[in-house]
Amino acid sequence: VFQPKVDLKTGRIYGVEALARWQTESGRLASPYVFIDLAEELGLIDSIGEQILKKSTKAAAIWVKSGHDINLAVNVSPIQFNDPYLSQKILKSIAESGLPPRHLELEITESVAVQKPEAVRAILAPLRRLGVRLAVDDFGTGHSNLAILTQFKFDTFKIDRSFIDGTPHDAQATAIVDMMLGMARSLEMDIVGEGIETLQQAQYLAQRGCHIGQGYFFSKPVSVDDIGTLLNQEAQRKAS
Ligand code: C2E
Ligand code: MG
Ligand code: MG
Repeated sequence: VFQPKVDLKTGRIYGVEALARWQTESGRLASPYVFIDLAEELGLIDSIGEQILKKSTKAAAIWVKSGHDINLAVNVSPIQFNDPYLSQKILKSIAESGLPPRHLELEITESVAVQKPEAVRAILAPLRRLGVRLAVDDFGTGHSNLAILTQFKFDTFKIDRSFIDGTPHDAQATAIVDMMLGMARSLEMDIVGEGIETLQQAQYLAQRGCHIGQGYFFSKPVSVDDIGTLLNQEAQRKAS
């Protein structure tokens, strides 16, 4: 499934994040919070990651070719960085799909950057040279290692839902969000507020200079076809 990310100034769809789902035999969709850990333990995460990249780059390439200027974000698990062929697999997905590399953004957590800086740097280098973007996901929930923000030259900073939750009513959460926004802006990163559920949160973040919003307030994660429909509706509104 794909969750839209919205430009907080213009309201236009800036991009989508690909989010894995597992359809159980009863037809229920299992949460990645359950099966990603299990897939990592069982050694299945590499092939799941590869499938998600393949499918999502293929879908995004079609949207881009149809004239929609959108960015695709894909999560990469720390375990995938043990795979010596990870760069090749990502390059293959880009090449086969025809998605321009600057439309792909890889989301990694700060912990992987802290734990395996050399492996991560080596794997990402050829991709970064092509223009693939890099986002730091869930910052503030792990080590909060500020040095990695400059060492990895992230393009995008994602503020975790746990901080957004408390805005704008909780003074402490708001102070932390303000601090993160200021820091990411000074480092000239694009900023995504995650888990925006209310109009008040969206307005607050927009006022404070957060560029992009993602959350149930805008849309839950939806199917590939639903994203196509949303993009076409947006293009029609623009044309009329
Ligand atoms: P994440 O990358 O931080 O993704 C954001 C999560 O927040 C998603 O949960 C999304 O559905 C949820 N979310 C977005 N807006 C809201 C909101 O307004 N309210 C609430 N309550 N939740 C919101 P999801 O899809 O369950 O994914 C959970 C985590 O599992 C992801 O967190 C990511 O770390 C991991 N994950 C998901 N897909 C993949 C994947 O393809 N590969 C890997 N390695 N990890 C994945
Ligand atoms: Mg993510
Ligand atoms: Mg996140």
